[in-house]
Amino acid sequence: MINVLPNCIGCGKCVPVCPFGALSLVDKKAVCGPACTLCGACVSACPVKALQMPQRAAAGADLASYKGIWVFVEVINDKGVLKNRPVSLELLTKGRELANELGEKLCAVAVGANNSGLYAEISAYGADIIYSVEGPAYADYNTAAYANAVITLIKKYKPSAVLYPSTYIGRDLAPRIAAEIHVGLTADCTGLSIKNGNLVQTRPAFGGNIMADILCPNHRPQMATVRPNVMGRAAVSAGKTAQIVREVAPVPASAAKVRILKKEIDASAEVENIDEAQIVISGGRGLKTAENFRLINEIAAEFGGAVGASRAAIDAGWKPKNHQVGQSGVTVKPKLYMACGISGAVQHVVGMENSEVIIAINKDGSAPIFNVCKYGIVGDLHQILPKLLTLVRDSKK
Ligand code: FAD
Ligand code: SF4
Ligand code: SF4
Repeated sequence: MINVLPNCIGCGKCVPVCPFGALSLVDKKAVCGPACTLCGACVSACPVKALQMPQRAAAGADLASYKGIWVFVEVINDKGVLKNRPVSLELLTKGRELANELGEKLCAVAVGANNSGLYAEISAYGADIIYSVEGPAYADYNTAAYANAVITLIKKYKPSAVLYPSTYIGRDLAPRIAAEIHVGLTADCTGLSIKNGNLVQTRPAFGGNIMADILCPNHRPQMATVRPNVMGRAAVSAGKTAQIVREVAPVPASAAKVRILKKEIDASAEVENIDEAQIVISGGRGLKTAENFRLINEIAAEFGGAVGASRAAIDAGWKPKNHQVGQSGVTVKPKLYMACGISGAVQHVVGMENSEVIIAINKDGSAPIFNVCKYGIVGDLHQILPKLLTLVRDSKK
């Protein structure tokens, strides 16, 4: 929260300036409430400079005391079975490489009701230490409870960098932590490396046309999110045993603001795993109508794969947003990716170019999608897809 200094004269000028309604006047003094996001908009509104941004964490000489690469390990409940989300293992793999280069430890942060059964796999992916915060309060993801658990650990053990998966949970958690401990956060990194002891966080910028290297040399911890399927995954040692450090963190009262009343599985449940699917069949604007998208759904069902879509198809309302593949959607890395009626704009390609085999169907032989595909079919998808569907179905008889 913004600091209100004693020289506040209670003029009230700051109150209407706050876009979040966080400021009020109490007894002729400005008071800041929990809605403050530290946007800083009110600071210049105060005629007597009574509003001050809080001091940033870990600056200057204190930097050297921050050591170790940390990975927030996200866990999924797959039909009642707890599993480490594959992207967590990808982050551990990259984290191991970074920690080796720095000569520091790789540490995993595991928050949950009972994740102990997953520690062997976390160890095998190279973790030296697992910081575990367990308890019934963590059975379901809760922003305030999880953020407080991770912040408690960060404040106690001072990591040099913390990596989070760029999933729904990671994208919710990491910014909350960054705001609370006043550090930066680079979202959706596609590369991570070390330069002069700093974490180089590489990510696309300006619509994917350039790759930007982002450094955070003056503050710690450095924090980044990484999408699923961007980094490789390799266990380092099946026999490795990480040290387990169990910690307790207070669950803040604000955690009670969110309660899960009911859980319902999305009827199109297959989309949940589009980033983990082995086969993804995607459709684009070339399909022309929502009705034609049915062909994509049917082929995906025959192959046992997930349905993807270009942003143009999403914007047209043919598929829900969580099917979107690309820069502002999900990144996929299946064994087979089929792009039907998709031109291959750079923003789409960054989300699927690491697929093992890419097949493209497009009536325009010069479409850029043919630059990234292994097999290309130049032709009308309205003729090709029904034939393909018949072939697949016949082959199963
Ligand atoms: P089009 O580019 O219109 O291509 C349609 C293709 O279908 C054409 O190549 C055409 O030849 C072919 N076609 C037409 N009829 C037929 C037929 N009968 N048979 C066979 N082929 C046919 N896009 C994404 O996909 N994902 C993203 O995450 C994403 N993020 C973005 C983020 C930003 C900041 C910006 C600026 C853009 C983003 N885009 C994204 C949009 C992207 O730039 C393209 O506009 C989009 O990918 C185009 O979708 P499309 O290929 O389906 O449509
Ligand atoms: Fe409101 Fe931003 Fe000032 Fe916080 S920093 S009180 S959110 S204007
Ligand atoms: Fe106090 Fe400054 Fe706000 Fe006026 S503008 S109420 S002096 S903090």
